[in-house]
Amino acid sequence: MKHMQFLPNSLLELITQTSTNLPPDVRAAMSLVSESETPDTQSSQALNIILSNIDMASDDEGPICQDTGMPTFVVHTPVGVNQIRIKKAIREAVAEATRRGKLRPNSVDSLSGKNSGDNLGAETPVMHFEQWEEEDIEIKLILKGGGCENKNIQYSVPCTLDHLGRADRNLEGVRKCLLHAVWQAQGQGCAPGALGVCIGSDRAHGYLLAKDQLFRTLDDVNPNPELAKLEAEIMDEANRLGVGAMGFGGKASLIGCKIVAANRLPASFFVSVAYDCWAFRRLGIRVDAASGAITQWLYRDPERPLDRMAKGEGFPLTGREVILTPPLSEEMVRGLRVGDVVLVSGEMYTGRDAVHAHLMKNPPPVSLHGAILYHCGPVMLKEGEQWIVKAAGPTTSIREEPYQADVIKKYGVRAVIGKGGMGAKTLAAMQEAGAVYLNGIGGAAQYYARTVERVLGVHLLEFGIPEAMWHLKVNNFAAIVTMDAHGNSLHAEVEKQTGEALAALQG
Ligand code: SF4
Repeated sequence: MKHMQFLPNSLLELITQTSTNLPPDVRAAMSLVSESETPDTQSSQALNIILSNIDMASDDEGPICQDTGMPTFVVHTPVGVNQIRIKKAIREAVAEATRRGKLRPNSVDSLSGKNSGDNLGAETPVMHFEQWEEEDIEIKLILKGGGCENKNIQYSVPCTLDHLGRADRNLEGVRKCLLHAVWQAQGQGCAPGALGVCIGSDRAHGYLLAKDQLFRTLDDVNPNPELAKLEAEIMDEANRLGVGAMGFGGKASLIGCKIVAANRLPASFFVSVAYDCWAFRRLGIRVDAASGAITQWLYRDPERPLDRMAKGEGFPLTGREVILTPPLSEEMVRGLRVGDVVLVSGEMYTGRDAVHAHLMKNPPPVSLHGAILYHCGPVMLKEGEQWIVKAAGPTTSIREEPYQADVIKKYGVRAVIGKGGMGAKTLAAMQEAGAVYLNGIGGAAQYYARTVERVLGVHLLEFGIPEAMWHLKVNNFAAIVTMDAHGNSLHAEVEKQTGEALAALQG
């Protein structure tokens, strides 16, 4: 009889480590891009914060990014092992990790919009089981958040691509699709990112196989020489596009490209791309099939301690930073220009998808005149009567594009903080009403959590923890003006320049 009595602890440790401690291959890739980025650029500043954030997360066992994604487990079991028991243990460990603030409650009922609060629900967490002929159980876990998940893309070739023209049913066509995949992600998936790719298969299985490629280490070499060559080419060419960290423009656009080919139907030729962000969280364990105790960590070398990432201060101050203390006046905001670095000290409110939809039909629960609205779905824990921030980086802003212009004009919001930038409608509203967009560093959840001095309150908590409107008091919250009140947008500029670079790679 196999009791697997240590399995719950082993799973909890796997989830905790995956959420808080990046694996060595990802650390090495991030060090490399940071070293090769041009110093004193916005992209290098973003990378400095990212590296510090990685250290802070592992030091304090806090989530690297507040979006801990859809936990996805891939399990291999010897014949005869009770998979039902493993599923139950996984669900319990996921709920416990959520209670401990290692995972954000991310499971939302798609019909009612209600957050289950414990990451359990219909088809969450995701679990895939396979049998194998080894003696141990292997459990791999990937945590991939919504920002990068939304940048996944599937091409049905032949097709016509922006800046690249026609992509045919051959490896040259695949190459064009993959360069396009990096370009279309810009900073919204928290670049520099990584691609898991499947050439062929059908639509559903192709996406699954693409995501499965993200379980390869970033520094391995594809056993198929043709695919190895294509992976190397994409790494080289994508890093010449100029997307840069967080889409600020720069050298670092991609840290990995992993490709598999699967047979397809004669009528179909899909190229499926799973885009992962720099916060590339995946780990694995092997456990004893009888006791459930961990026998080995995957993706880690016990002989090699994890190096510290940050070389200096996370965000070296120059003295040229603009101090913003809300409420902000129109005059103050119109004085800001794209490229200015700001430090916010004072009060701000979070608001993301549910809050924006709510504000279209209802007045805000607080006055937003002169306010800063932060696109953020934090990880929060309640200690006694006080809410404590466990992770609080920016979320992808473009989802609020249908609403943001109205919210700014109707309620007098003067600054929006998020990541990845917003579109033409919001830019026009900012110019008309006098407001700016401040780009935070996506995924830097520990870095930003440390800027929160106190949680002053919460509104609309019925939307769930990530979607509620949190009232925060922050100190020295660093961000970069990327859209100003004069009609300038760094995002539009980088998209144009990278589009030209893409066209030059047309081949
Ligand atoms: S780093 Fe960015 S894209 Fe990745 S999970 Fe966090 S917010 Fe989402």
